[in-house]
Formats: sequence, C-alpha cells, structure tokens
Amino acid sequence: MALVPHWKQPSHPEIQEVIINEAEFTSKSLSRVTLPPFALYAKLDFPPCTRADEATYATVQMGNNEHLNLNSDLLYINHSCEPSVIFDTANRCVIAGPKGLQAGEELTFFYPSTEWHMAQPFDCLCGKPTCRGRISGAKDMTDAQLEGVWLNGHIRDLLLERKQQTAVGVKTNGEVVSENGTAPVNGHHAEQEHQADQTTKALEDAVLQAEKVVEAARHALFSYIRQTGGTKNGPAGAQRRGPTSRELSGEMGGDTNGNAIAV
Ligand SMILES: [Zn+2]
Repeated sequence: MALVPHWKQPSHPEIQEVIINEAEFTSKSLSRVTLPPFALYAKLDFPPCTRADEATYATVQMGNNEHLNLNSDLLYINHSCEPSVIFDTANRCVIAGPKGLQAGEELTFFYPSTEWHMAQPFDCLCGKPTCRGRISGAKDMTDAQLEGVWLNGHIRDLLLERKQQTAVGVKTNGEVVSENGTAPVNGHHAEQEHQADQTTKALEDAVLQAEKVVEAARHALFSYIRQTGGTKNGPAGAQRRGPTSRELSGEMGGDTNGNAIAV
C-alpha cells in the first residue's frame, strides 16, 4: 500500500522537507525551522483536513470516534518513542516537543498519543533508549509503555476507562460493584464522570471498611453466643446481614445455633 498523495506538494514548504523513499513507509520529513518547546509548528486546518469516521493509515484520531484526514505532507511525520513534535488534537495543531525543535531534525510524533486502536501495529526501530518496541494503539499498550510521553485528552480518557473497567472486575470478586461502573465513559462528560467515579470509589471503600467492622463485631457476637449458649431466637443484630455475610454463613453452616444465623 504505497502512499499516493492527492494534495499539491509540497504542502508545507516553509517548515517541512519531505524525503520520499521508493520503499514503502520509509519516507520521512525534516523540520526547516527551529522552535522553542511547545511552540506552534503547524495548524491542523479544515481544509485541508477533513473528518473521517474511521482510522486509516492517513488519519489522526481526534476523539473517541473522531478522526481526521491530514490531506497534506504532515502525513510524512513518522513515529518515534522520543518524538520531536506533538499532535495536539484538542487545539488542532502540531507543536514542538518538550525539548524544542531544531532545523534539520526529523519530525516525529508518538503515534499512540493520538491513536487508540491501530489496525497495523509495527515494531519500532527508532533506536532511542526508551524505545517501546511494539507500537500499537494506546489500547493495546501497557501503562508503562505509555509513561513519560505526552498523550492527548481522548487517549487519557480512554485509558482511565480501561483502568476503571479493570478495577470493576476486581471489585466484582470483592462483592462490591459500582452501579455505573460498567457503563462506558462518555467523552463529552469524561471529567465529570471521572469525579463521580472517584466519589463512587471513595464511598465503596467506606462501605467495605464499615462492613469489615460489622463482620468483626458479628464474629465476636457469635463466638460469645456459642460460649454462653445464646438466647432462644438469637440476638436481633445478628439477623441483619450485610452483603459480605456469605462468608460467615459458610463458616457457620451446620452450627447448632442455626436459628441465629438464618437469613
Ligand atoms: Zn521506538
């Protein structure tokens, strides 16, 4: 699949030198300008950019289900694990990386900083000390692989969602499940959802702690009842059961004081 440009070249002659190689996917481009850290390199204007519903080799992801066709030589900016530029999709621009940009330096960006899913993962040959090796969409990369690099907001939101879904899985085993924990985070309200989820998490932790206290008291109460023979109907408090009482029920199964622990 060779890239066939459909736009007038060069599209950014003042700032970019494109070096086309005959072999597929070995083209690259160099900066013609020197910029301080995070300075504007190029805007992602509409046009030439157009919206796309799905990712292709020629698109950059802008949101959960939003992609854009670059329709320019900016497409020749390769991946690097220590990139020289950042695609800031929220602000629709390309900016210099944290070390700034030198004229003659290769233009590179970190593909998973925009792409959640990549149809064609590849093995990175950037040779940098921090090379991540296999480069895929952020979805298929570990937190460690995504550390230390600038990521766009939509990727951060999706990573948070991935983390929460993992956390909900753990909580399911711990018998506490967030009521909305499995609902996908809506990109438009991700920040509010994030705060709501933090509150939910704090309350779940509080419930778990309270249940531990109740369970400890119940254990103490039952052991006291066993020692003393108990009362005929058992203590009223022991009949109110929390959601984590299944453990206790198992432990106490077959106990002669069955009435006291019946639900
Ligand atoms: Zn690399």
